[in-house]
Amino acid sequence: MALELTVQEAMSKKEKPDYDHLTFGTTFTDHMFVMDYEKGKGWHAPRIVPYAPITLDPSALVFHYGQAVFEGLKAYHTEKGVLLFRPEKNFERLNVSNERLNIPPVDVDFMVKSLKRLVELDQDWIPTKEGQSLYIRPFIIATEPALSVRPSKQYKLMIILSPVGAYYSTSDQLSPVKIYVEDEYVRSVKGGVGFTKTSGNYAASLSAQTKANELGYDQVLWLDAIEKKYVEEVGSMNIFFKINGTIITPALNGSILSGITRKSVLELLDHWGMDVEERRISIEEVYEAYEKGTLEEVFGTGTAAVISPVGTLKWKDKVMTINNNETGEISLKLYETITGIQTGKLEDTFGWTE
Ligand code: PMP
Repeated sequence: MALELTVQEAMSKKEKPDYDHLTFGTTFTDHMFVMDYEKGKGWHAPRIVPYAPITLDPSALVFHYGQAVFEGLKAYHTEKGVLLFRPEKNFERLNVSNERLNIPPVDVDFMVKSLKRLVELDQDWIPTKEGQSLYIRPFIIATEPALSVRPSKQYKLMIILSPVGAYYSTSDQLSPVKIYVEDEYVRSVKGGVGFTKTSGNYAASLSAQTKANELGYDQVLWLDAIEKKYVEEVGSMNIFFKINGTIITPALNGSILSGITRKSVLELLDHWGMDVEERRISIEEVYEAYEKGTLEEVFGTGTAAVISPVGTLKWKDKVMTINNNETGEISLKLYETITGIQTGKLEDTFGWTE
């Protein structure tokens, strides 16, 4: 049966936050999208309703065994109207996560259409200044009240929206960040769930993130779980190195998240005819390049900050200062191109926005 979206508009609108002092993900718009799943019935009752807390049974499976997946993407207020950046890729990735976590798949086209309707309804919440956007958080939780360790028979899919400013609190979005190479904790193993956006991955990353923050670093760079030798990804970004003119990023190996910004960066670099390698890269190789003076740029890619130049990389007792702690040429070009397309200022020859 075809899904039919119903819309219940909020009777009263909430007060908008101070758009000059937005903090990431703390205020939410007037509406949210909700859809339920029940075994035998499938996904049903898709609806846009006023934003409100929900009630769940304390025995709901998600609270106990963490059967939960999520996504993150953004909408931009532009001269061409409201633009979303590659939303179908997020729902395709949600289905990749769903499959691994034993959650039933969603209809990607229906989800993109419903999301557009939701964003359109709350479009006066999209901030308009440089670097600002509407952060979109789709997620699915296992809601069946049951304490057995098994896939839930009931789920709830929700989408909530939050106006956000520039990701980092520093005034310049492109100021280089400090990254701590984690060599005690690990994030993920092959055969595990590292390639999915499941909540447990983030819960498991918190101790390392806290340690890095206490030492004055912004995020951690994870190494492989077996040898703690090969570079994987940053806390919430994929990572790229420019060594002697070649741009290298770890190949997707089952334990790394397939970032949509990563994919877009690879497509752009290919379009520009640059030398790019997707392969295994060890932290020793990065350090050797640094020692030789051939480590030209390091940057992270992700929805939140788009491109984050890395100015400092600390690995054990070695502290590498990259590109004089300045924003590199490729980082800048990628940032300007991707954000230009996202905000409608540049022509979208790739068909990434809709
Ligand atoms: N790796 C991890 C662990 C992440 O959480 C994210 C953010 N979704 C990324 C990489 C970057 O992915 P994307 O470009 O799709 O935001």
